[in-house]
Amino acid sequence: MNSTKQYDFLIVGAGLFGSVFAHEAKLAGKKCLVVDKREHIGGNIYCNEVEGVKVHQYGAHIFHTDNKEVWDYVNQFVTMNGFTNSPLANYQGKLYNLPFNMHTFYQLWGVRTPQEAQAKLDEQRAEYAHIENPANLEEQALKLCGKDVYEILIKGYTEKQWGRLAKDLPAFIIKRLPFRFVYDNNYFNDTYQGIPVEGYNELIESLLEGVEVRLNTNFFDQRKALESIAENVLFTGCIDEYFDYCFGRLDYRSLKFEHKLFDTDNFQGNAVINYTEREIPYTRVIEHKHFEFGRQAKTVVTYEYPDEFAPGKEPYYPVNDERNTQLCSKYKELAGKCRNVYFGGRLAQYIYADMDDTIAEALKLSKELL
Ligand code: FAD
Ligand code: UDP
Repeated sequence: MNSTKQYDFLIVGAGLFGSVFAHEAKLAGKKCLVVDKREHIGGNIYCNEVEGVKVHQYGAHIFHTDNKEVWDYVNQFVTMNGFTNSPLANYQGKLYNLPFNMHTFYQLWGVRTPQEAQAKLDEQRAEYAHIENPANLEEQALKLCGKDVYEILIKGYTEKQWGRLAKDLPAFIIKRLPFRFVYDNNYFNDTYQGIPVEGYNELIESLLEGVEVRLNTNFFDQRKALESIAENVLFTGCIDEYFDYCFGRLDYRSLKFEHKLFDTDNFQGNAVINYTEREIPYTRVIEHKHFEFGRQAKTVVTYEYPDEFAPGKEPYYPVNDERNTQLCSKYKELAGKCRNVYFGGRLAQYIYADMDDTIAEALKLSKELL
């Protein structure tokens, strides 16, 4: 790659994918320009500091992985604090532990041993054993876990998330519901878990150290000029937008976050509480200081609301139904034909990727290209 242009790579997006790639490219002696339309780096893992609390501006981010290479990679830049995610569910004012485990079964039915819990679940499921081919999510969930778990912990939350009745949602969304017959509230099964002591911003700042970054710069506002100054482009924005929506728009699920500052040192006693009732409009309440075992005098709490996506809103989750999967494969085919343009990250690949998968993918692309 003997460049005659000013930059070897134009990287569109200063999120985790773009930043890991930029770091690797710099190490390989490549000159990169990173542009982002937002006013900050970090994409969706960006945190805004309020009263000494790192507020996860775009939703709670808990790092968890089974991939030792990725874990070691992140630990070069930041120290992980050992946080373990143990969310609670609030249903009609009563609290239940998640994921479904012996604590939850005790809270639901008063059962104390794995045998008693298994027997109770079997009894609850037996009522729906006649459903051979579940026609919708409700039937699927009832068949898998019976009435109590479904009505208390799944129905309302899922209907809020998707903005549709469980009876109108496809069964495939819930293929499997993991039950744990031990007293263990750790939400994730991964070996490694934590939140950076120094914060996610420090991780991104370290990755981008020595790399030229232009913020408040939308690639599409100056596409020709930006493309002309770099030998290659790594694009981490929306794939349908890159191709000017030529086959139509992809759907997303959006979210709304309401951040509140309270003059108390401890608002809810846990980092994450899910509200599983349909009647309560938000799905989760996050108290950020608990992610960092904070001792600040005040606290910042975020209410998370599901939101219909519309152009101009933040596209958070892809909708992996048949229409969108087919539409996306057309865009991916076009992407495969582009010379010197590479597509990476959750928006360009139209996937839900956790942070560890994002880093692993960015490292893989770096190894292929650099
Ligand atoms: P992004 O962070 O979206 O970065 C893309 C960047 O490109 C953005 O900064 C954007 O502004 C920029 N951009 C887009 N278009 C343009 C343009 N035209 N011009 C210039 N710039 C542009 N993962 C976990 O491991 N644990 C969690 O607990 C977790 N929680 C999550 C909660 C929520 C609500 C969401 C949505 C995701 C969560 N994730 C979690 C996933 C995590 O956010 C992603 O893995 C990661 O942020 C993906 O990085 P990215 O660079 O691909 O995308
Ligand atoms: N879910 C649920 N009750 C809960 C939490 C999750 O029914 O208290 C279901 C719901 O269908 C949701 C899915 O599990 O869409 C995944 O939820 P999770 O919070 O793990 O992931 P996220 O919504 O952050 O992608």
